[in-house]
Amino acid sequence: MTPTEAPSIPFFNYPSLFAGEEAELVTLFRDVGRRGAFILQPDLARFEADLAAYLGARHALGVGNATDGLIIALRAAGIGAGQEVIFSSHTMVATAAAIHFTGATPVPVECGTDHLIDPVAVEAAITPRTRAILPTQLNGRTADMDALGKLAQHFGLAIIEDAAQALGSRFRGQAAATFGAAAAISFFPAKLLGSLGDGGAVVTNSAAIYGRLVELHDHGRRADGEIVSWGLNSRLDNLQAAILRHRLRSFGAAIERRRALARLYRERLAGLEELKLPPGPDGDRDHFDVYQNYETEAVRRDLLREFLKGRGIGTLVPWGGKAVHQWERLGFEQRLPFTERLFERLLLLPLNLSLSDGDIHRVCDAIQSFYCG
Ligand SMILES: *Cc1c(COP(=O)(O)O)cnc(C)c1O
Repeated sequence: MTPTEAPSIPFFNYPSLFAGEEAELVTLFRDVGRRGAFILQPDLARFEADLAAYLGARHALGVGNATDGLIIALRAAGIGAGQEVIFSSHTMVATAAAIHFTGATPVPVECGTDHLIDPVAVEAAITPRTRAILPTQLNGRTADMDALGKLAQHFGLAIIEDAAQALGSRFRGQAAATFGAAAAISFFPAKLLGSLGDGGAVVTNSAAIYGRLVELHDHGRRADGEIVSWGLNSRLDNLQAAILRHRLRSFGAAIERRRALARLYRERLAGLEELKLPPGPDGDRDHFDVYQNYETEAVRRDLLREFLKGRGIGTLVPWGGKAVHQWERLGFEQRLPFTERLFERLLLLPLNLSLSDGDIHRVCDAIQSFYCG
């Protein structure tokens, strides 16, 4: 078969999220629909309990999406106007927007060679106004939480994790989303655990923070109906919760499949000098990575991308091509040379549950022929 005849490999296959288990999902919709169980219903409470148990956390609270989850988490931890929160500029703009909407100032810093927040850069950015560190557990990998935890303790800062991309990831055996005062997880369809729409959760081990989160996500309302503060409306739909609860049951297998695909990429591509791969799934005792994304650094990135596109293979340049501080209209004044250079080379290869081993081989064959002729 010539390359143009081969079926294309999209970067992400959205229809497969439904087609892969249509019958089970329709049964589930019917059940929820017939019960009229749409908002704050038992499927949601059960999913929250299952999610907390999976993570080894005390509390999980469904919210409308992870961006809202971060806003609520920051507010519950007391972050607000006049304060600064440090984050890695290699993240979704949502991370910084969440800080902005609490009234605090988002302070972007460099990432390290593994693309996650650099603790040395964090320390250098701390000022008397700093109140929190917001590490993004990027690409299914957890940051060095020992180093960040020591900084937080020494300088009296809170840690709020952006774990949107990291459900199931671990650092030294401990699950992402359980290290700080609170953390947000995303159930956007293309995330590790995807719903059929928007969704998120906030996770915490603190009963006091959980109480605040509950109020903040539901109009400032307490369990007894009393309005005790200004709040948002950001609840996880019960129908989405039912889908997520169903999908959480096979999540362990999903993670193992992602790690197998990452292993296969490494076997096929580790010899290429022009392509730097993310850390492998084996041999690093500190990190258990779950590969939300397979983020490479590619020499001649844009040409490689075009070449793969010509062979029907979809790739993605992260975050529309810029780190958060590089979006001029957001008003950042920082220069982050390491991150800026990195963004000239970053390229995500397809890695998701709709891909066969054969698909990965095809992607690798194409990359080999691009670099090796
Ligand atoms: C997806 C994502 C978000 C936002 O999640 P939503 O649920 O879409 O609000 C935030 N941060 C990171 C790192 C993400 O990948």
